[in-house]
Amino acid sequence: MTQIQSMNDPEMTKSRSSEFAAIPSVDRLLHDPGVIALVETYGHSATSDAVREVLADARSRMRSNEKVGPAQLHPDTLTQRISERLETAAAPSLRRVFNLTGTVLHTNLGRAPLPPEVIDAITEAALQPSNLEFNIEKGRRGDRDDHLESRICALTGAEAATVVNNNAAAVLLTLNSLALRKEVAVSRGELIEIGGSFRIPDIMARAGCRLHEVGTTNRTHLHDFANAMGKRMALIMKVHTSNYVVEGFTASVAERDLAALAHENDLPFVVDLGSGSLVDLSRWGLPHEPTPRETLASGADIVTFSGDKLLGGPQAGIIVGTKDLVAKIRRNPMKRAMRLGKLSIAALDAVLRLYDDPDRLPEKLPSLRWLVRSPTDIAAAAERLMPQLKAWVGDRGTVSLQSVESQIGSGAQPAGALPSTAIAIHPSGGKRGQGTRLRKLNELLRALPLPVIGRVENDALVLDLRCLDDEDAFVAQLAAESAGLDTP
Ligand SMILES: *Cc1c(COP(=O)(O)O)cnc(C)c1O
Repeated sequence: MTQIQSMNDPEMTKSRSSEFAAIPSVDRLLHDPGVIALVETYGHSATSDAVREVLADARSRMRSNEKVGPAQLHPDTLTQRISERLETAAAPSLRRVFNLTGTVLHTNLGRAPLPPEVIDAITEAALQPSNLEFNIEKGRRGDRDDHLESRICALTGAEAATVVNNNAAAVLLTLNSLALRKEVAVSRGELIEIGGSFRIPDIMARAGCRLHEVGTTNRTHLHDFANAMGKRMALIMKVHTSNYVVEGFTASVAERDLAALAHENDLPFVVDLGSGSLVDLSRWGLPHEPTPRETLASGADIVTFSGDKLLGGPQAGIIVGTKDLVAKIRRNPMKRAMRLGKLSIAALDAVLRLYDDPDRLPEKLPSLRWLVRSPTDIAAAAERLMPQLKAWVGDRGTVSLQSVESQIGSGAQPAGALPSTAIAIHPSGGKRGQGTRLRKLNELLRALPLPVIGRVENDALVLDLRCLDDEDAFVAQLAAESAGLDTP
């Protein structure tokens, strides 16, 4: 009997309408003890919405001729489905994950995590009124920047500082404040794009400036800049080419020379440093990243950098430089649209205070701790975790230790790799369908209660253990799954 015939069969139609009648009413379900308990947790409005959705779902499945038996319409089953729906809807969108990508400051995974003393400062600022824009001593209006400026100046040697939401905003605001309707000279080798649509030429256009490209992609000389100087030129800009290296026959102009040329022409010299570490990373054996202090010392009038890259703090864009120029930037009405929120101010202030004791920074700042973590320590962690990963993978693949190189990330030092150890999972089976099986394994790791994010490299799933702090939680969820238990 075909389906069309069955639909026309009066007996069938009758039995279907009695099937529909078996669906309990919204009202009846709302009086079910299980659902009453859900109302306690999630409130009446969300719960009755979920009840309606679950019942509508049952009805629509019946309509599409799916078999919906009495067990599926039992109040306990329906309550279970209502509960799951409410739980999913109430879950936060932002979730903790394990960053095993090997990229420490991973923009897509939230960059720098914050230490407990910084969380305390955020909590304090969030819970209570504060002197965010109030001068307690004088009893009048204060400025947000007052909470950060002197500390940033002390750490960079700058005369003045101001802070905005991120470094992209810092660059946009600086250009708009100092070069509106005028030209900005930038080397062609520095017209960068940073992941997620930050492109110097686009920012320049939106800031209302005309980009004057100087030199060529691989080589730019001082005389190229000198030739570009003219009436409409507002400033010379240098962009730290943080996420790539141009190798081979290259030339770029030293900051000191660019600063001298800018100053000869009465123009400011602006440097977008990107990551900009506040301390010299080479003291911990890491590749040297230019610091704002060094850049200012070589003649920059304004330097911009991020708060959540090598600095290890919250998302922020920091602008340091001369008093006059910073004052001009601060006066720009756009500053108001980019100002930092109080939680970020509290966080940035707390992170900067950790810099009073630079020797202990790697203990305090999680991102720095991961960056300086020794290869032997990572290798030991990998050895410890092998059995658990083997058990979890089972016959889906083979598991092995692999020497890898981690990256700082967020554009810092693309060439400066950090030796590390990963657990690599090669999916079992032949070449055919290997890509699919690899994707499946990757999906399973992402589907864990605390999603595990690795990277795919040479037909293997690579889990770099550099940034794994909480081995217990990592192991617990693997063990729970291997045993076929419900994960906590
Ligand atoms: C990262 C970066 C930016 C953007 O900074 P955000 O803080 O992500 O807005 C701008 N310029 C350079 C050179 C960078 O490396």
